[in-house]
Amino acid sequence: MTTTEQLYQHYLQHPVISTDTRKIAAGSLFFALKGDKFDANTFAQQAIEEGAAFAIIDNPAYQVNEQCLLVADVLTALQDLARHHRRQLTIPVVGLTGTNGKTTTKELINAVLSQHFTTLATQGNLNNHIGVPLTILNINASHQVAVIEMGANHIKEIELLCSISQPTHGMITNVGKAHLEGFGSIEGVKIGKGELYDFLSQNGVAFINSNNPILMTMQAARKFAVPPVFYGDAIDDLVSGEITENAPLLSLQWTNNSTGESHNVKTQLTGVYNLDNILAAISIGIYFKLTPAEINAGIEGYQPKNNRSQIVQTVTNTLICDYYNANPSSMAVAIENIGKITASRKVLILGDMFELGEESVEEHKAIIEKALATEVDERIFIGKDFAKAIETISHRPSTTVYTTAEDAIAGLKADPIKDSTILIKGSRGMALERLVELL
Ligand code: ATP
Ligand code: MG
Repeated sequence: MTTTEQLYQHYLQHPVISTDTRKIAAGSLFFALKGDKFDANTFAQQAIEEGAAFAIIDNPAYQVNEQCLLVADVLTALQDLARHHRRQLTIPVVGLTGTNGKTTTKELINAVLSQHFTTLATQGNLNNHIGVPLTILNINASHQVAVIEMGANHIKEIELLCSISQPTHGMITNVGKAHLEGFGSIEGVKIGKGELYDFLSQNGVAFINSNNPILMTMQAARKFAVPPVFYGDAIDDLVSGEITENAPLLSLQWTNNSTGESHNVKTQLTGVYNLDNILAAISIGIYFKLTPAEINAGIEGYQPKNNRSQIVQTVTNTLICDYYNANPSSMAVAIENIGKITASRKVLILGDMFELGEESVEEHKAIIEKALATEVDERIFIGKDFAKAIETISHRPSTTVYTTAEDAIAGLKADPIKDSTILIKGSRGMALERLVELL
């Protein structure tokens, strides 16, 4: 069996990891991970033929030459290697988790810190038990700080990811309703996300949104070896801030309360909830001693990608494309936001939220009620669960329901929307991007 130390020696010679035989980097270490439908042990030889220096496998039947390194379990070997690599590094690692806003906050923190440091951040959304070790293994001697997104849908997952990434600084963006099937309940989400506070309370500095009562309760229940840093809207927070314009891009004013100086920044983000994400990034910037000009350059320069609250201007409409994903808490804040936007005509197009288990119909009903209570001109709900939930609500002005996205496409073709600001949001599986060409 190959030990972690032996693997690490190979990694020092070949510090690039491949896991996909369609994209083998020359001279890389190929980790033969198991997927739902395949066992990559069977691809080990192919990976070597395509240029991998070594293949890490856990089935001795495929150990056909010296380039095949046998371990007990490939995934554990990858995680152990990443943990070992992290231990050799002395750089700060900012670790983030939370129900919503992880990727946005991670990108904002990276945008800010990269004004001053050579940084490495999680690529896209690679935030799980495979993505985190792969990200850690991308850190090299040139990097001065790393920003790592950590996702979870079960208890103990953040604990594992912290043991690998060993964050020295970090934050829980918020705690809300998502992945309830895996966590069991909102209490389960608090325990699961709280594992980051558990780690930081012993080993680092926690950055905490003082406006968030759940996070404040969670931090009060723990003893932190180093006092946490707060951000929000209180004078004793390190940084506080407020929105000065939302049309639909946000401008804000923020104050470094340790110096009393205030600054204005114009962002390329929409969504009042992004205030929290921006203040989180500013607090990290201040803590790492960046100048206000550097901090603002980072915030101003950040353009959201991948349909997370991305603004798209079409011939007739302004779209708030937020169809990357949805859960009850992100849906609620997105609806609240459109209520607050300055626009002449507003439309909601909302698709089903997945993975809600038994609470699904109730949660969809609550979203419909929120949409009905929000001042918009038209409300369109798409999906089986919305269709089921709406049956229980009799008074529903300016509301259309489609059971499938195909029905919605036909409906929008027959009756197009014009001159409106439109929020489009639903779970990934709803693939609401299919509607965009009609808008
Ligand atoms: P994932 O779990 O898919 O990785 P994430 O936590 O990385 O999601 P983002 O991708 O940053 O989150 O944002 C996804 C959506 O969540 C946004 O488009 C927005 O609708 C919502 N959102 C972002 N920030 C917040 C926030 N602070 N509070 C509530 N909702 C938010
Ligand atoms: Mg993410």
